[in-house]
Amino acid sequence: MSSFFSYISSRRLMFGSAKMESVNVKNEGGKNMEKVGNIFCIGRNYANHASELGNEIPKEPILFSKPTHALTYADGETICFPNGQGDIHHELEIVLYIDREVNRGDRVDDVVGKMALGLDLTLRDVQTALKDKGHPWLRAKGFKNSAIMTKLWDFPGEEACKKQTFSLTKNGVTVQKGNIQDMMFNFQAIIHECLDVFGLGEGDLIYTGTPEGVGPIADGDEFIFYWGGEEKGRFRVSK
Ligand code: ZN
Repeated sequence: MSSFFSYISSRRLMFGSAKMESVNVKNEGGKNMEKVGNIFCIGRNYANHASELGNEIPKEPILFSKPTHALTYADGETICFPNGQGDIHHELEIVLYIDREVNRGDRVDDVVGKMALGLDLTLRDVQTALKDKGHPWLRAKGFKNSAIMTKLWDFPGEEACKKQTFSLTKNGVTVQKGNIQDMMFNFQAIIHECLDVFGLGEGDLIYTGTPEGVGPIADGDEFIFYWGGEEKGRFRVSK
C-alpha cells in the first residue's frame, strides 16, 4: 500500500492524474492508515468573512465539496498551483475528521476523532465568473492541491476548541486568525446538516469555514499554520 506522502510527492512532481479510489492519510505516529472519503466544505461560516467579500450572511449552511484529488499535505514541501487563472485566495479553516458512521443525534465529540488545520484554496476570479453565470463552483474550489491539510491530531472536543485561536502566517506575517466561537453554524450544526443532506461516515473530512483575512497567494510565499502558539504545518507556493 503506498503512503499518502508518497502519493502526494509523486503528484507534486508530475501534477498528473493519479487514479485513486480514496486517499490514505498517515497519522502523526505513522501507525494507522486512515482513509479519506468525502471532503465537505462550509461557505461563509464567519460573518466578518462573508462581509469582506460583500456576501449576504447565510440563513442555512452553504455546502460544497472537493474531489479527493484536491487534497495535499502542508508537510514543509513546495506545492504547485495553477497559473494564469487569476488570484488564488487562501482560506484558513479547521478541518474535522469523522471517524465512524454518523447517525442522527450523535454528538460532535463522539464522531469527530481527529482535527487539522487546512486551506480551502479558491480561484477567486474564476469563482466570481462562475457565480455570475450561476454555474457550480467546482472549477474554482476543486482544482488539484486546492485542499491543503496539516497533520491530523486527536480532537480535544468542541469546548476545548473554543479556548484556542487558530492562525495562518504568510511570509512571517499573521494574515488570518480565528476562533470557533465566531462561527455562525457550530460543529454540531454543520455535522447534522452534512448528515441530513449527504450522509456522513468514517473518513469524511469537513472544512468548517474561514474567518476574515483571505487573500492571494504568490510564487515563493511560505505559509505556516498555528493552533494557539503551536506550529502544525507549513508549505511553500510554486505558481
Ligand atoms: Zn472556505
